[in-house]
Amino acid sequence: MNDTPVPLLFEESRPGRRCVRHAGADRAVAVAGLPGSELRRRPPALPELGELDLVRHFTRLSQRNYGITTNFYPLGSCTMKYNPAVNERIAAAPGWTGLHPFQDAGEVQGALAVMHGLEQALAACTGLPEVSLHPAAGAQGELTALMVLRAWLDERGEDQRRTILIPDSAHGTNPASCTLAGFRVKTIKSSDRGLLDRDDLRGHLGRDTAGLMITNPNTLGLFEEHIAEICRLVHEAGGKVYMDGANFNAIVGIARPGDFGVDMMHLNLHKTFSTPHGGGGPGAGPICVSEELGPYLPVPRVVEEEAGYRLDEDRPRAIGRVRSVHGNFLVLLRAWAYVLRLGAEGLRRVAENAVLNANYLRVKLAEDWRIPFDRICMHEFVARPTREMREAGVHTLDIAKRLIDLGFHPPTVYFPLVVPEAIMIEPTETESRETLDAFAAAMKEIAAQARAGDEALAAAPVRTPVGRVDEARAVRDPQLCFRCS
Ligand SMILES: *Cc1c(COP(=O)(O)O)cnc(C)c1O
Repeated sequence: MNDTPVPLLFEESRPGRRCVRHAGADRAVAVAGLPGSELRRRPPALPELGELDLVRHFTRLSQRNYGITTNFYPLGSCTMKYNPAVNERIAAAPGWTGLHPFQDAGEVQGALAVMHGLEQALAACTGLPEVSLHPAAGAQGELTALMVLRAWLDERGEDQRRTILIPDSAHGTNPASCTLAGFRVKTIKSSDRGLLDRDDLRGHLGRDTAGLMITNPNTLGLFEEHIAEICRLVHEAGGKVYMDGANFNAIVGIARPGDFGVDMMHLNLHKTFSTPHGGGGPGAGPICVSEELGPYLPVPRVVEEEAGYRLDEDRPRAIGRVRSVHGNFLVLLRAWAYVLRLGAEGLRRVAENAVLNANYLRVKLAEDWRIPFDRICMHEFVARPTREMREAGVHTLDIAKRLIDLGFHPPTVYFPLVVPEAIMIEPTETESRETLDAFAAAMKEIAAQARAGDEALAAAPVRTPVGRVDEARAVRDPQLCFRCS
């Protein structure tokens, strides 16, 4: 590797930092023809580094990182599920990456066929026939579907229906999306079995009800057994049911939400249908809705005609665009490859293994931990420290930090809010029994320490480059510079 310097216009030195100005940057300014008042007066403070220094820097950082490629990562709910490596190769093929989103439909028939095929597959899996692939994340799918609901209500002259009911175990994005879409939120209690409390629901339904937003399986990892009745109650009150399907891997190929009465839902392709999503993206949160709500879906829609596929913008009841182009295409492509490779049978096995793995761990952990809703779970379950451990002064945060020392990424902690000191564990469908056993053994070791009130727990992690940080302070007073002086 050689160490070719970048072309410099001039160089400015400051203590501890060398700044360079790139010739290319000046050209860019000239081309853009920006007014003089908008031009920077000082060069940007960019460090000057050789390629080798840079490679080492990032390699070192990556080695400090915990990732699915190095460690078991049983994060509840937002878990990265199965991401077959072959899909990365497919998504990197130049035939796909070289496409321009505004090419003529005639030149991109293959890409439109992928989108159309994926729409049909998602409709088949969910039992909801109309699909939009545009939303770029689960949360954007929620917002898009709520805008669709609003358009449907407004067209029927029902603009007094502005309340969305949400169970208290919901993911934080649910109430946030409602607020963004202009709805009020009312919270519905969970029952003592960890399910939506139907009496509380009945008491909240009325002429202001726009709909219910329900996660199924819910964030406790429990299937809402009364979902069909719940949907009927909401429909009788004149509302629609939205299902948060972020963790569809629990039921894919087994249950179709359209069959139990759901009107709209989103899927997180970056959770259930391949695509790694560490670090916040990229993602895709397609929505699937009933036939009645189809006309309101965002434009453009992919349509198939005798002459081939085309993008249809001419849909007068559509809510408009929710994204500048037609979704995160390479995420859609991975999802399509995933569906084709697994087929209906393989997708069903995803759900079976996700549920089997979670229940295997649930039963093993129940030997030492308190499992508040200790019955068959779906893709995940929630545990918490026992009374004895809590009396010994041990908190869930200590357990999470100790797991890092033992070589595991901590699960989601302190969520869902309905379980104090929650530890939310989702092993996913693709972990081996050996890995699950190793995790269970680590949890057993920690349980013994916790019962004994071992002070080492409060000091964990001790085997990481950075020890325990003050997380509240890190958020309020972030130090984002490298070697700030
Ligand atoms: C991940 C998740 C979301 C949000 O999805 P994003 O793609 O992160 O916006 C919503 N609900 C549940 C239950 C989730 O797990």
